Amino acid sequence: MSKIPNRKALGASTVADLNSRSRASEPERSGTASDSDGINRYRVDEKFIVERIYNAVMEHRLAPATKLSEHTLCATFGVGRMRVQRALLLLSDQGIIDLEKNRGAFVVSPGPTEASEVFEARALLEPAIARHVASDIGSKNLEMLKRHISLESEARGSNSGADLIRLSGEFHWKLAQASGNRILSRVVRELVTKSSLIVGLYGASKQKVCPKDEHLEILSAIERCEANASEALMIEHLNRIREGLDFSAPQPQDGDLAEILGMK
Ligand SMILES: [Zn+2]
Repeated sequence: MSKIPNRKALGASTVADLNSRSRASEPERSGTASDSDGINRYRVDEKFIVERIYNAVMEHRLAPATKLSEHTLCATFGVGRMRVQRALLLLSDQGIIDLEKNRGAFVVSPGPTEASEVFEARALLEPAIARHVASDIGSKNLEMLKRHISLESEARGSNSGADLIRLSGEFHWKLAQASGNRILSRVVRELVTKSSLIVGLYGASKQKVCPKDEHLEILSAIERCEANASEALMIEHLNRIREGLDFSAPQPQDGDLAEILGMK
């Protein structure tokens, strides 16, 4: 009886190598690899591609309105068009890219009006979420949020700008997750993603992340079950982020897509 050789036995050593073997049939491969893994251990499925692009957008490495050509993404990730197209559809559903008929995929590019609407929506939702979470936060969610704030502090201490930008936005999403409402969590994730782009485009150079210690102040109020204070602190926090925006001078960025997506 013949045995099916595993990937290691086949001697595949790079993304391109792994995927050139399967391009004809495009079998599903699930799972992702962490950033600390070597490129030869990446398992490139739609989720992997979505996460790479999502993180690059959140960390302001991928500029608004950047064209994401299918051809370039296939070459970058070493996968076939079907897989890239599925990833692009997922990213479109999450509000991270726009799919334009006959033109292709572009990172969303919010203008001043949309930016204003995004912060208006956040101002309506997030203080209410902070109030709600303060009324009923379990120890598991509290620990999850404390751990997150520790990661933010570490990133701030190590001057890891990209990590800090991502973690800064993710605090808001995780707070929404702690509400236990999946719809709210999804909406906040989309709003935070758009906000990250907006702050990347219009934020003053020194204010690309949430102001220091304010997440801790909000969480401390939540831990003390002070609903009014939690709500008020979140309102002030969002106002401060919004006040730091300057719509007069957007700064588009350029770069090598494979490098931006961590595939070089
Ligand atoms: Zn914040």
